Amino acid sequence: MVERSFKYLNTIKLDSLKGFGEKRYSSLKKSNLKSVTDLIRFYPRKHIDRSKVKLINEISQEDQNQEVTIIGSISNISVFTTKTRLRITTLTINDESGSVKAKWFGPQYIETRYKTEERIALSGKPDVKKTGSIEFKNPTIEKFSDIEELNETGSFIPIYQKIDGMTSSSVRKALKEIISILDTDKDKFTAGLSDMLSNEILKKHSLLPRYDSIKQIHFPKNEDQYKDARNRLALDEFLYLRSIFENLKSKYKSENKGLEFSFTKSDIEKFIEHLPFKLTKSQYATSYEILDDLIKEYPMKRLLQGDVGSGKTVVAAVAIYAAYISGYQVALMAPTEVLAEQHFNSIKIFLNNYDIPINLLTSSVSDRDSVLQNIENGTPGLFIGTHALIQEKIQFTNLGLAIIDEQQRFGVEQRKKLINQSGLIPDQLVMTATPIPRTTALSIYGDLEISSINEMPPGRKEVISYLFSGLQSDNKAVFDKCIDHLSNNSQIFVVCPFIEESESSDIQSAENVYSLYKEKFKDNNVKILHGRMSFEEKDQIMNEMKKGEIDILVSTVVIEVGIDIPNASLMIIESAERFGLNQLHQLRGRVGRGVKQSECIFHITNKKSLLTISDDGRKRLEAIVEIKDGFKLSEIDLEIRGEGKVTGTSQSGQSDLKIADLRFDYDLLLKSKNIYEELNSPMEKDLIFKEAKILFPNYFKADGTT
Ligand code: ADP
Ligand code: MG
Repeated sequence: MVERSFKYLNTIKLDSLKGFGEKRYSSLKKSNLKSVTDLIRFYPRKHIDRSKVKLINEISQEDQNQEVTIIGSISNISVFTTKTRLRITTLTINDESGSVKAKWFGPQYIETRYKTEERIALSGKPDVKKTGSIEFKNPTIEKFSDIEELNETGSFIPIYQKIDGMTSSSVRKALKEIISILDTDKDKFTAGLSDMLSNEILKKHSLLPRYDSIKQIHFPKNEDQYKDARNRLALDEFLYLRSIFENLKSKYKSENKGLEFSFTKSDIEKFIEHLPFKLTKSQYATSYEILDDLIKEYPMKRLLQGDVGSGKTVVAAVAIYAAYISGYQVALMAPTEVLAEQHFNSIKIFLNNYDIPINLLTSSVSDRDSVLQNIENGTPGLFIGTHALIQEKIQFTNLGLAIIDEQQRFGVEQRKKLINQSGLIPDQLVMTATPIPRTTALSIYGDLEISSINEMPPGRKEVISYLFSGLQSDNKAVFDKCIDHLSNNSQIFVVCPFIEESESSDIQSAENVYSLYKEKFKDNNVKILHGRMSFEEKDQIMNEMKKGEIDILVSTVVIEVGIDIPNASLMIIESAERFGLNQLHQLRGRVGRGVKQSECIFHITNKKSLLTISDDGRKRLEAIVEIKDGFKLSEIDLEIRGEGKVTGTSQSGQSDLKIADLRFDYDLLLKSKNIYEELNSPMEKDLIFKEAKILFPNYFKADGTT
């Protein structure tokens, strides 16, 4: 008997099935549904609970707080915009017993998707007025042509994403046909669909068998059946992900030979002892995770993550030292010149006691030629730079370690360029302060080992956050805060919004804010910094800021990444509602690095307040003042931004996930990890990997983070 698996069913094209006419097949094919597997994994968008379907005249006051569904046709569509520019779309819907109104608030453009006369199903909580009239606010609406389905199918009727040329009903029929084929025991096949997990594991983790899940995801009899099915199928998707990354990792390890490193524990301990401060536990532990990787027989690929200010640079310095005494070149690439320069200065201090050549290569360094010469000659040492490090002309010949700081600022291609330009395969360390939500870490960085610094250096005081509106009294309060901090000899950052139109409008907005502060604080040294300034200008300003000569620095977001000025104790973010949540968190992290109590003001655009900014803006501001943990914030950010817009994941194949939702399925993700580790036969793992290759093709097309 041959087992039916997704892999096998994927080879059965839909047009080879009896009953799949030319027309139906070509519609499905256009939506990329070609095989039996594709159609089975075309999971319903939602279900209509038949038990909740009512005639309009059956709806009474008692239904006020429960979901009901009505099936009817649209008799009128109208759109109205209020004085406050709120858009209200109203549909009138009739069935044979009466009529209701459905209203949507906001720009949902319902009217562009539905026509009068069209039959629809409407679900929501009805508002039953005393007069007896019924209204639904923001209900869900589905086209629903086949009233006869109501009598025919189970209690839950699956609704599918729209396919041109096909109704939800014909998708339902097609799936029923497939299930009835699978249900029968053919001579050659066992009925159903083979399960990649053993009965033992299913039992242990209370999981539904796979074939039951397939049936129940489409045609559940009740909500529990649906939930069980969804859980199982989402879990499977995480298993596929895990298997893909495990395989990518082991492939990389077996195909690439690591360089030889020669350093001793006592070398390292001495180095750590001579640092200007005592490493935190976390810094110490992550340093050794990296060092252990260096001496492994395959090249390291590790991500070092740690919140802003957690002290990643010094950990990198430990690795740099180890690579240098092993005789290699080390490249450290940073996204901005200001940051490259800062690394240059702080790492110089960390490596102070040793005779290690440190070269700075930015677009504006004067002794460029000699740096280039050193790179080409293979002279051991540290090379710090911006994108300048990956220009055509540059050819490392002895690169042992490549470090990329603030890696989220670089594209995959840029990272690869740095790694691949040497004939050797260097060890890779990428660093980021953009906390990756636990749930997306797997999909984005699955092929990297992860080290986390999860504590701050001692003595840091938590930054106090304030939310000020753009109304007059609050604007004044912002200036009062400035006066407080200035009288304490502290320095202040004022960051101006990122404006989408162009860089020049960024500068314009910064210039306006700059004149305002200059006017207000005539006796203080107020300066401006923006992206159009030459490197020398920026450098000079940053140096003045570091030396404490500037009191108030107004800037565009160039300040965002990595800048370290301990005497700055007030951060003011202008038009804070326009910034992303991660960005706000990064900016807040620019202060609170010294001994003074630091504060951060999130200042809403002039004349506006929480009540008059966008919903998302308000949610972001509420989150940022409330929450200090960068990881939590980025999870919230994902929620606010909503599904499908998870940046950075599309290229690594987010679209392959059909049912698992990285935002909400963290428990399942953990479960999948445990289950994957419990699989004891290589055959089981192999089976999963084989299916993964078919079901998650994008992970194999894109290079991800390799
Ligand atoms: P990030 O992780 O944001 O890159 P940095 O490496 O820039 O952080 O470090 C932030 C600041 O904290 C720097 O001034 C650095 O010298 C300091 N620092 C780092 N580690 C420690 C420590 N263990 N004790 C005291 N200060 C530290
Ligand atoms: Mg940093």
